[in-house]
Amino acid sequence: MEIIVAQNAGFCFGVKRAIETAQKAAENNNPVYSLGPLIHNPQEVERLKKAGIIPIEEIEEGNGKTIIIRSHGTTPEKLQEIVDRGYVVEDATCPFVKKAQILAQKLTDEGYQVVVVGDKKHPEVQGIVGWSGYKALVVENPEEAARLPFYPKIAVIAQTTQKSENFWQVVEVIKKKGGEVRPFNTICHATRTRQEESRKLATEVEVMLVVGGKNSANTKKLAQICAATNTPTYLIEEASEIKPEWFAGKAKVGITAGASTPAWIIEEVRKKVEQMASMEQALLEIKPVKEGEIVRGKVVKVLEKEVLVDIGTKGEGVIPLEEITWYRIERARDAVKEGDEFPVLVLKEDEEGKIILSRKKALEILAEEKLLEWQKNKVPVTGKIVEVVKGGVLVDIGVRAFLPASLIALNYVEDLEALKGEEITAYVIEVDLAKRRVVLDRKSYLKEQEIKTKKEKIATLKEGSKVKGKVTKIMPFGAFVDLGGFEGLLRAQDISWQRNVRPEEHLQVGQELEVVVLEVDRHNLKVSLGLKQLTPDPWQKIPDELKEGAVLEGTVVKILRHGLILELFPGIEGYLPARETEAENEPLMKKYQVGQKMEVKILTLKPLEKKMTLSQKEALREKEKEQYQKELAEEENLTFSLGEILRGKLKDV
Ligand code: SF4
Repeated sequence: MEIIVAQNAGFCFGVKRAIETAQKAAENNNPVYSLGPLIHNPQEVERLKKAGIIPIEEIEEGNGKTIIIRSHGTTPEKLQEIVDRGYVVEDATCPFVKKAQILAQKLTDEGYQVVVVGDKKHPEVQGIVGWSGYKALVVENPEEAARLPFYPKIAVIAQTTQKSENFWQVVEVIKKKGGEVRPFNTICHATRTRQEESRKLATEVEVMLVVGGKNSANTKKLAQICAATNTPTYLIEEASEIKPEWFAGKAKVGITAGASTPAWIIEEVRKKVEQMASMEQALLEIKPVKEGEIVRGKVVKVLEKEVLVDIGTKGEGVIPLEEITWYRIERARDAVKEGDEFPVLVLKEDEEGKIILSRKKALEILAEEKLLEWQKNKVPVTGKIVEVVKGGVLVDIGVRAFLPASLIALNYVEDLEALKGEEITAYVIEVDLAKRRVVLDRKSYLKEQEIKTKKEKIATLKEGSKVKGKVTKIMPFGAFVDLGGFEGLLRAQDISWQRNVRPEEHLQVGQELEVVVLEVDRHNLKVSLGLKQLTPDPWQKIPDELKEGAVLEGTVVKILRHGLILELFPGIEGYLPARETEAENEPLMKKYQVGQKMEVKILTLKPLEKKMTLSQKEALREKEKEQYQKELAEEENLTFSLGEILRGKLKDV
């Protein structure tokens, strides 16, 4: 359906000006009052009220400081009263109305009997009459004009929204009475343009909507003009009044609107008509379906034992429970839900006119057409695991497909029952349509996905960067760390600066940690990680006690053929050659064990080379020497004391 909105529909210049004047005034002095509604449109008046522009009927109701004179204008007395009461006046009288007011005043002063062609009750007309000093007469049509008495000098003025023909007919009637007749066509050009345009539009369309306040003179006139073309015309204030039956079978709709109709209401009306047009279109597009045809359906309701499906026909199609899936289900909701869309096969139309559909047959037909292609081109297919059978599971991929247990996952799956209901993706590896046999392989699919993810992740890794991961497995040679979809290896020697690191003593499965990327092998998709590299090398800042000649305690961390490795401080180790041990002639393995503590003397120390030679013998010698000196000192003390004693004795003698 084509929708044409008249170019000049809606606010005219005068109304726009009045609203802008009021809004500006309300910005500075909220609220402001308009003498009568600013425009004849209840919805817009409500909107303006919220913006602080309140319509009042009597001046005394305005307890604010500002009163807006609306586009219709007012009488000079009212204007004076407003000023006398101390209000600020914002005069938004439309310049076209103002022109009619001035003419009425001037022509009356010049001795003419002013006749206004218009609606006596309309505020604009009442205002014009006021400006003539209440001497002007008002006629609505030629009939009323015919009843006027003779006046030697008559001036005829029009209400700005008058129909042009009516005005000129009145002038003609008055002219026939004789005397001087001066017509002043004060019909506003906006009104004329709108009326002409609407009349033309009404002749080109099949339905005409006139939007505007039902108490708006210019809107009512527009509706009359459109209706006069014999095109069905509806005067509405808002979109909610529109009825779909107005447009049944119509191809062209015209929309026009009165001078006081805001653009947002016109747009709402246009959208509503558009919406109805598309509904109408949808109804027209409904096609009958044929038995054996596969169509797309959308689930609109899931009942216990059947599903109602919208297939674009007038009524809904029905899928009985046994036609939903090839496997057994207890209730329809076990397999489908409202809003699901899928192909259905039209089985038949039953005696009640219900269209019976089959989802399972439609999927089966479509899948069978594709199976060989999926197998040949290795297209991944998705389906739900619906049953556990001997040696594997059955998957619903539209048809029944078997997935052997050995091909379900990358690793062995013990509990197949736990997989029931799971949505999986796999490759079709075997198709025998005659035997209705389809076999799937999910393992290959997962493997490929794993490699793909690994490649993508590895591409983002940089050697030397820090990454976060989670320990997944601990082995004697190191630990595997998950970096988000793939694993890197943290070797034992890269866990700590200490020697002979046992990974299980430093890490545990599930532990989250930060590691350094040491090496990325993009070809073999391997990543080496480091943990100790996050801390400084202990050889770079050795303790003060560590110096040549010092005797310190160390722990045996490794026993070699010709010597021992001892750790003196965490991560700082030295070499104790066999010849420097106290048991140089005995096999080291027999005499020492890992973890044993002993004192050693540092013979040489080369921190830059991370080398240190130790001597147990020297340490023992040092100890003996120390012991000997201690004993000697004690002996000297003893000798001195004996001399002292002897000297004392001799004195006594
Ligand atoms: S219709 Fe014409 S006269 Fe009336 S307010 Fe609008 S512009 Fe002014």
